[in-house]
Amino acid sequence: MPEIPFVETLVANLRPRVVGRTIRAAHLRSVSLLKSVDPPVTAIQGATIQDVRRRGKLALFDLSGALVMIIHPKRDGRLAIAPSTQRATKDVALILQLDGGEDLRLMELGPKKRAGLYVRRAEEVEQTEPVGGLGVEPLDATFTPEALAAMLDQARMQLKRFLGTQRYLAGIGNAYSDEILWEARLSPFAPTQSLKGEERSRLHAAIREVLQRSIAEHRAHFGDDLPMREPVDLLRVHRRAGEACPRCGTPVAAVYFSEKVTYYCPGCQTGGKVYADRRLSRLLK
Ligand SMILES: [Zn+2]
Repeated sequence: MPEIPFVETLVANLRPRVVGRTIRAAHLRSVSLLKSVDPPVTAIQGATIQDVRRRGKLALFDLSGALVMIIHPKRDGRLAIAPSTQRATKDVALILQLDGGEDLRLMELGPKKRAGLYVRRAEEVEQTEPVGGLGVEPLDATFTPEALAAMLDQARMQLKRFLGTQRYLAGIGNAYSDEILWEARLSPFAPTQSLKGEERSRLHAAIREVLQRSIAEHRAHFGDDLPMREPVDLLRVHRRAGEACPRCGTPVAAVYFSEKVTYYCPGCQTGGKVYADRRLSRLLK
């Protein structure tokens, strides 16, 4: 699922293509995409796109008329620019016809249609789904080591779950929580409140470093293109079960955690402990 580095690249590369353009018509081709009721989706017709920005894993389009269109790509939703004359394939869930003969299209690349579209009044964005309730942006200046320490004491949950909980930190998911914990040399299963001062500093630094480095790597990978496929080769441990840890050489291990697979290095994160997982060993046979 697209996390901060992917969505950050998406909005940066969309900005020069769509800012200043007017939405002439909006065609909703998949009714389940629309998650908001009022204002209606037709309200965005005639509006000009003033900015595109990221919040958590969301792309926010600031529109004239004090409206905000929010797109949550979820796992398989992707945005593309296409000539309006180009026939839309079946996977296109939304067509925004822009001035200048081009469309902004949202496609669902997988069979599970989970992407979301929300139209909100600007003044309601912070209080309503999906922005309302999101926690701090980990690259924001307000995310200090002290802010992290307060969250760790309050959360009282395993680190892996903490990093993916959007009301604490917005924009980190299953892949980058693995990458961050590997960078910080911390066990995914350590309780948040158990971290010592030095471990807390390491976690804070790792969150910033991994995300900043990954944004730079995504930008280099995609150039000016709108991102489509996630570049999994940029990941150090996530989805690399059995491969040598780039730091210590121990084979990377994998374990099911909350319906998803968590990857970690037993050599530098869990003091040598490999978590048994019968369900996963069955799958890997
Ligand atoms: Zn290692």
